[in-house]
Amino acid sequence: MTDKYAVVGNPVAHSISPQIHAEFARQTDAPISYVPILAPLDGFAAAVSKFRDEGGKGMNVTLPFKEEAFQISTTRSIRANSARAVNTLSFGPDAIAGDNTDGIGLVTDLKLNLQFEIRGRRVLLMGAGGASHGVLLPLLIEEPVALTIVNRTLVKALQLRDELQGEREVAVFAGLGKRATDMEVVEYPDLKGRCFDLVINATSSGLKDEMPPLPRGIFAAGALAYDMVYGKHTPFMKFAAEHGAKISDGIGMLVEQAAESFLIWRGVRPVTAPVIAMLKGVNSES
Ligand code: NAP
Repeated sequence: MTDKYAVVGNPVAHSISPQIHAEFARQTDAPISYVPILAPLDGFAAAVSKFRDEGGKGMNVTLPFKEEAFQISTTRSIRANSARAVNTLSFGPDAIAGDNTDGIGLVTDLKLNLQFEIRGRRVLLMGAGGASHGVLLPLLIEEPVALTIVNRTLVKALQLRDELQGEREVAVFAGLGKRATDMEVVEYPDLKGRCFDLVINATSSGLKDEMPPLPRGIFAAGALAYDMVYGKHTPFMKFAAEHGAKISDGIGMLVEQAAESFLIWRGVRPVTAPVIAMLKGVNSES
């Protein structure tokens, strides 16, 4: 029987995960079924139970259910614990395993696809929402020399940093990176006169065609500006290009996080480059 997987969200019709997983499955000899499931806002747990009872093997979870997925997971990876959110559920007979592959997706895109070495670099992470929660520990494990978090609402960035401390200790204990990185939280005006090698836009500003209030000179020579939004030339990417930085959108992150989910479920890491190339040709986020 074909193994069944799904992506659950609200809304979910726009998701290109079914397309990505169909491409991955094509690379293996074992076909899978992977469908979108629209769960009511108050019906996430019921939708998961139904799919599991019908023989589903695993689910990807998208907005706004990643925190609820964390709650219903009976075992959680370090990555899930540090993110306090789950985007990959795997169903066993007695357990629901929760993982978060967003951060490793970003790191893989940066290191392998964009050939950007994070170790020893100065990183600026903009935003303190779900996306920042997912990527913070995986970024620290790469041992940048400094990681600065900036958010419009300062208290959320402080909370993000404080919540991470315990998980960072667990990760170091597990041999994942060292305590090599200076981590700080600042406000946008504090960035004046500073520059960074990697500036990651983990805000939703691009979706609204808005620009985070970055000062000129924020990009060091040879810097990379990475916007997690995909399929759009955002104001941040335009600003970065005008100020001499290399730019990337988040389509590679999306494909790499999917590849990591596929690996968890199927035990095989798909080849991502042709899928990224295909989506760069056709996708636009809307
Ligand atoms: P979220 O939880 O709603 O957080 C949004 C963040 O954006 C908050 O920190 C908010 O600041 C900030 N923000 C919004 N508008 C801003 C503006 N004009 N200037 C400065 N900051 C602004 O959203 P999320 O889940 O973290 O997702 C963020 C983005 O990442 C989304 O666009 C999503 O599509 C993308 N994403 C991509 C991938 C991928 O695989 N490529 C994966 C995950 C997420 P305040 O706290 O001050 O409101």
